[in-house]
Amino acid sequence: MAEKKVPLRTCIGCGQCRTKKELVRIVRRPDGSVVLDRTGREAGRGAYLCDDPACFEKAVRKKSLSRALGVPIPEELLNELRSSGAGNEAKADPGGGCHAG
Ligand SMILES: [Zn+2]
Repeated sequence: MAEKKVPLRTCIGCGQCRTKKELVRIVRRPDGSVVLDRTGREAGRGAYLCDDPACFEKAVRKKSLSRALGVPIPEELLNELRSSGAGNEAKADPGGGCHAG
């Protein structure tokens, strides 16, 4: 049983569990600004999304994104996140099942 543990995070758009590598992180920094965090190193409250525009839009529609971050996300910022690459690297990988949470 030498299984390597991979940290999994749940996409707030589709609710699927994926490895952090497959997700983009959106972070509310301590100063209140919200940024797309591709390094995973930004301090603050984070939300994870698949690298897929559909998940981004789902999270926006369901208000999962603003709920996860604890702040309302203005349309202007959504556009900025879209253009900065939220979901621009969509993969065809269906991902694995994860029953955590
Ligand atoms: Zn997703």
